[in-house]
Amino acid sequence: MKFKEKINTWIFDLDNTLYSADSGIFQQVHKLMGEFISKNLKMDMVEAKKLQSKYYKQHGTTLRGLMDNHGIEPDYFLDEVHKLDYSIVGPDEILKKELEKIQGRKIIYTNANKKHVVDVLERINLANFFDEIFDIKMANYIPKPEIRPYEQIIDIFNINPSSSAMFDDIAKNLVPAKKVGFTPVWVDAGYENFSDDIQASKDYLDYSTRNLSSFLKDINEEII
Ligand SMILES: [Mg+2]
Repeated sequence: MKFKEKINTWIFDLDNTLYSADSGIFQQVHKLMGEFISKNLKMDMVEAKKLQSKYYKQHGTTLRGLMDNHGIEPDYFLDEVHKLDYSIVGPDEILKKELEKIQGRKIIYTNANKKHVVDVLERINLANFFDEIFDIKMANYIPKPEIRPYEQIIDIFNINPSSSAMFDDIAKNLVPAKKVGFTPVWVDAGYENFSDDIQASKDYLDYSTRNLSSFLKDINEEII
């Protein structure tokens, strides 16, 4: 069955999915996280970066590791690491055009906070375009790829998983997506740091694309 016939709910990750991994925003967040750890846990940047990547791997997000091991207050962390220079992100008119043609409900599902979503959507000219935003606070700070927030998003927005597709640049985030019944689409941003995760997730990646706009174009033209 073609995407258009099957899917009426479209769930999109934000960072590196709806705008390019090359924008530099990702690097800014990473740097700010390292600085946050260094400052708040009083360690040098080398140690801080090690801890950041350890928590990311073990807890799904650096934040979760900081909450569980150090009692860090999540909103404080999220505010600090999203003090970003958003001027480097700009609109993508081709993507916008294809998104506008897609029929049905469109939802943002992110491990970041709502303020970051609103700021980015403003910059990429998609403010007020999405029907819902499910952020890390709504998920009780439980990040993708833990399965609980996926169950929660289904519940909160009254989603029928079999008519829903989820798009994410992180392959392992699509494992629970497939398990709850969404059609998973991996937006391959081309970075190699997470290749172990990609290997471990590959049986769950029903679709993959290097270019979200052309994938959506294929859906709109009923090629897929
Ligand atoms: Mg992402």
